[in-house]
Amino acid sequence: MRELELPALTHSALSDRLIALRDEHQRLKGQGLRLDLTRGKPSPEQLTLSQPLLGMPGADGHTAQDGTDCRNYGGLQGLPELRATFSGPLQVPAEQLVAFGNSSLELMYECLVDAVLFGVPGSSAPWPREGRTAVLCPVPGYDRHFAICEKLGLDMIPVPMTETGPDMDEVERLVADEWVKAIWCVPKYSNPTAVTFSAETVRRLAAMETAAPDFRVFWDNAYAVHGVADADEPLLDILGLSTEHGHPDRVFVFGSTSKITAAGSGVAFFGSSPANVSWLLGHFAKRTIGPDKVNQLRHARFLPDAPAVAAHMERHAALLRPKFELIDTVLEKRLGGTGVASWTRPRGGYFVSLDVLDGCAARVVELAGEAGIALTPAGATFPHGKDPRDRNIRLAPSYPDLDELRDALEGLVLCVELAAVERLLAASDGTG
Ligand code: PMP
Repeated sequence: MRELELPALTHSALSDRLIALRDEHQRLKGQGLRLDLTRGKPSPEQLTLSQPLLGMPGADGHTAQDGTDCRNYGGLQGLPELRATFSGPLQVPAEQLVAFGNSSLELMYECLVDAVLFGVPGSSAPWPREGRTAVLCPVPGYDRHFAICEKLGLDMIPVPMTETGPDMDEVERLVADEWVKAIWCVPKYSNPTAVTFSAETVRRLAAMETAAPDFRVFWDNAYAVHGVADADEPLLDILGLSTEHGHPDRVFVFGSTSKITAAGSGVAFFGSSPANVSWLLGHFAKRTIGPDKVNQLRHARFLPDAPAVAAHMERHAALLRPKFELIDTVLEKRLGGTGVASWTRPRGGYFVSLDVLDGCAARVVELAGEAGIALTPAGATFPHGKDPRDRNIRLAPSYPDLDELRDALEGLVLCVELAAVERLLAASDGTG
């Protein structure tokens, strides 16, 4: 622990510090590092946990439990046994769950495109034809959600994330406008803040009155079973609660096995009310004669029930836990008590959200890049890539091994301190 926080140092102390830090950064650049903390990809060790999938379903294994020949066309809603496995983890009755392609992001894109082209159950017209269309975006949030909105020309309204989920006072205020049609939510071990929505947040989302009768909650439960701590963080069943509160069609649930089995070769899920499920399947029916049931069958055999999923995820957690611990250790050692950084200590998910001194995030990313450490671009966690305070950086520790991760983090903390000292010096009047 330092004697003084960096912002309390005098001008001359900061100048001395800057010289030392620039020296250190110069040496870091000389190391020729090539490290990457950008995207939340599973590591090779994590992928190997699902190696048996590659030999499944096997030469004779093409028949599903109900006798379906998975080699043939059909079965638009996906294999019942796989839907049964994920019904519990995703909190959607199996008959209201669709198992589709290899990407939940694709399903989110499809739902938004269909809403824009045709409207959803309860719409009187396609969304844009009813006037301006806006989507609430809790921030910091998932850049790919924002990219879909940007692509489709939908307005994005940032809503601050709190420790319990999106600021619900703000959400309730905003949904009183009928052009606000949807909200993005990553309700469990959120990307990037690792927040799990509290019971009160979920209840309020389910119960709130919205001016738009066709308002939708895009419930992207990408990290439903991805705890890394000893105890799982519970999440209320929003689909059931919305139905109880008279809004059965409010929620679109999404999930996938991307970070359970093989990222890019997994299975994605959509869950919702019967009316929404028929709506989506109606659109699917025009673009495909059925999903890849052979992939679904091997997933159903590899993960025959929810306890099998939980046991498998415990093995993932064992690989991820030391990486999250290492982040906290390295950040705390150098940045603890400096007053120029705060970060999350995730109990699940894939990310650590780091807040540096206001106005410094882009500079930290630049300094790290000069030293061969790739970080997610500053601002990526905000709509249009613009963080109004230029302070948030998303760290993704899953892919590198522990040695690479330590090297990357030690470089990163230096860059955080250097950017802060540069900024503080620029702001100080030189009289200290
Ligand atoms: N949602 C969130 C919140 C994610 O973090 C990710 C992966 N980074 C996805 C969706 C993408 O999932 P999929 O592979 O199923 O498209």
